[in-house]
Amino acid sequence: MSSTSLFTAHSALAPYGWDQAWADQFAPYAPEGLLPGRVIRVDRGQCDVMTAAGVVRADTAFVTPHDPMRVVCTGDWVAVEPGGNPRYVRTYLPRRTAFVRSTSSKRSEGQILAANVDHAIVAVSLAVELDLGRVERFLALAWESGAQPVVVLTKADLVPDAATLAHLVQDVETTAPGVPVLPVSAVGGDGLDVLRAVVGGGTSVLLGQSGAGKSTLANALLGAEVMDVQATRDADGKGRHTTTTRNLLAMPGGGVLIDTPGLRGVGLWDAESGVGQVFSEIEELGRRCRFHDCAHEREPGCAVLAAIDSGELPHRRLESYRKLIRENQRIVAKTDARLRAEIRRDWKRKGAEGKAAMDAKRGRWA
Ligand code: GDP
Ligand code: ZN
Repeated sequence: MSSTSLFTAHSALAPYGWDQAWADQFAPYAPEGLLPGRVIRVDRGQCDVMTAAGVVRADTAFVTPHDPMRVVCTGDWVAVEPGGNPRYVRTYLPRRTAFVRSTSSKRSEGQILAANVDHAIVAVSLAVELDLGRVERFLALAWESGAQPVVVLTKADLVPDAATLAHLVQDVETTAPGVPVLPVSAVGGDGLDVLRAVVGGGTSVLLGQSGAGKSTLANALLGAEVMDVQATRDADGKGRHTTTTRNLLAMPGGGVLIDTPGLRGVGLWDAESGVGQVFSEIEELGRRCRFHDCAHEREPGCAVLAAIDSGELPHRRLESYRKLIRENQRIVAKTDARLRAEIRRDWKRKGAEGKAAMDAKRGRWA
């Protein structure tokens, strides 16, 4: 089957993000009779996979179970067996992006939380004083995953007037170069259409502090009907009513939302390049320092310090940058280098996906 007809044959998966590129990646597995699908939930060695024929439960033991980075996770595209008891996931397709967090084990290892996320929605409440440092931390995490961050300023109805709101938006925009900043109100519905348009074309996750309004946003994006569909009969149910909690749901206006408890409380982990993107203006200034390894402490010819003196760069920004860099270095020092190399390879090597798929296949069946 050509990969174009492969795409068409499974077009029922389009609301879950199935596209021609995934069909191309899946193509090597089609001759084995395997089915493409997207993982909507994982649970102790089992996962629920949305296929064109509906949800199937599958065992993940086949996919290198001893490496926490290489376990199947919500958002993965997989090749699953058409049947069997148990039915196995044979492999996952190379990830476009991934959210990872550190585990509290002695050997600090990453844990994969969600894969193939396009938009990271960072919810920030306008009901409390803006904490720009916290916004920066979530943005670092978002950039590091490979997803495009979007800051959503929630509870805009609680801001007394339009001028104040405009100021708040501007403050966050200055803190977040390259990131759309959208004020929304779940109460009045303001801004929700813009948000729907921004996240409509891909897979999104919700990040942010507890109380920031993530659940409320999820309900607004998904609509009541979709939340009810959470409890549905799975394709293997054969008349039994099995309920499936889904951590990945298709939004009625298009796009997919991944919402897992683990992701909500995620920390900063190996996000060095993410930190650089959050503070792109500082990194930009740093390129003009006299010394290329300038620490921007008290070196002569430091462009960063000059920008602070002239008022161009707020001192708070530099402090926040230093804090996140230090925090990141501590975490990185604890992290197994091999593992980090592997994470990078996993999704930064998009060009070699075909080979990766073949390696995966050989590896599993050798
Ligand atoms: P989460 O912990 O991030 O999931 O936050 P929730 O969605 O549970 O919201 C926390 C509180 O903020 C709840 O009491 C919500 O009713 C309230 N809230 C959420 N969105 C809005 C909004 O747009 N306007 C107002 N006034 N309150 C909101
Ligand atoms: Zn400098």
